[in-house]
Amino acid sequence: MDHILYLQCLICGKKYSPKEIEYICPEHGTEGIVDVRYDYDLLKSRINRAGLAENPDYSIWRYKPLLPVDANTQTPPLAIGWTPLYEAPRLANQLGINHLWVKDDGRLPTASFKDRASAMAVVKAGEQQAEIITTASTGNAAAALSGICASVGQKNVIFVPESAPPAKIAQLLVYNSTVMLVKGTYDDAFELCLEAAGEYGWYNRNTGYNPYMTEGKKTAAYEICEQMNWQAPEVIFVSVGDGCIIGGLHKGLKDLRALGWIDRMPRLIGVQAKGSNFLYEAWKNGEDVLGKAPVSGQTVADSISAGLPRDRIKALAAVTETGGAFVQVSDDEILAAIPRLAQGTGVFGEPAGAAAFAGLVRAVDEGLVEANERIVILNTGSGLKDINSAMTAVEMTGVHPHHIEPSLDAVKALMGKP
Ligand SMILES: *Cc1c(COP(=O)(O)O)cnc(C)c1O
Ligand SMILES: [Zn+2]
Repeated sequence: MDHILYLQCLICGKKYSPKEIEYICPEHGTEGIVDVRYDYDLLKSRINRAGLAENPDYSIWRYKPLLPVDANTQTPPLAIGWTPLYEAPRLANQLGINHLWVKDDGRLPTASFKDRASAMAVVKAGEQQAEIITTASTGNAAAALSGICASVGQKNVIFVPESAPPAKIAQLLVYNSTVMLVKGTYDDAFELCLEAAGEYGWYNRNTGYNPYMTEGKKTAAYEICEQMNWQAPEVIFVSVGDGCIIGGLHKGLKDLRALGWIDRMPRLIGVQAKGSNFLYEAWKNGEDVLGKAPVSGQTVADSISAGLPRDRIKALAAVTETGGAFVQVSDDEILAAIPRLAQGTGVFGEPAGAAAFAGLVRAVDEGLVEANERIVILNTGSGLKDINSAMTAVEMTGVHPHHIEPSLDAVKALMGKP
């Protein structure tokens, strides 16, 4: 792994070799998130855009030289990455903008963006032949870890809040993870998981703690830019809970800038739910994210419910360093976005996925984007993850099915004369 220069603490700036520390900078309790720094000159000698164009591997591993793994590392067999980037002209038109794309990460094997990070966790744990991997999660990171572990026969222990949507819990059980349903919030599950991991020596996948999760998530930014022929978009919208995804996108874009593969840095717009708006508040009021007290974390979009966003340093930097913004949207706006995104594009997102679109609607209203800008929104999870919210959302729009007798007359009564 000669392409990694060091791991750098984002609080004190101290540099460590990857062998020296496993996860965080030991100077700051559990807060000392570090960033993996690469030797870009060396990377340039190993990978370039023309070579990539010839690479038949359409998964995150096509970017292997840019990831914190060895060239000969075995990777899990599930097909992770290269999700579709759809143009959405009808939806764009409705909003009065000209260029809109939706990247659909609901298409990943366990149906959320989290597969990108969990794949990396399984590879990193494999390097040290860890017996057990653990994570806390609102549901999707757990399902992703669970599924990718199943693909390689790796044991794992999962901590999720008892309130996680049943589909996500079902995934964990189907894959036969050891599942701890914590009577508390995601924040409680997180603290408990850290404690248990320390006590038992389990490999720790936790978001905002394990620095390699950002490295898995950054692949989405590579894909967006490659799918757009290296003409980076002006703006990318993504929903934000812990802030690891938006931090990962930022990291991927910084890599591409350093390699000289894109010539502009897109603005990153982080979308938060009103009841879980720690980063929105901190950004708007110029508060110190390390000192700020947690918020309640209440929202219908369970995947972005985070009272104390664990990757808040990277998330805030993603927005401020790209000239982006945070926007907040209500649960009603999030729910309304589910059928609207689905009907405008065919992409059915879970609440946290559709929240990115709700954020775009708001940003258009607030004049945060211009009509001619090229805009990408990321759907981070499949709508099938949370059917209850989808049903609530359609009820709100007044759409309902017709219960009919099994006769053609009944159809005609509804549809009128053929
Ligand atoms: C985890 C998740 C998010 C938010 O990602 P963070 O890294 O926590 O900000 C958004 N949408 C979905 C579907 C998720 O699973
Ligand atoms: Zn430090």
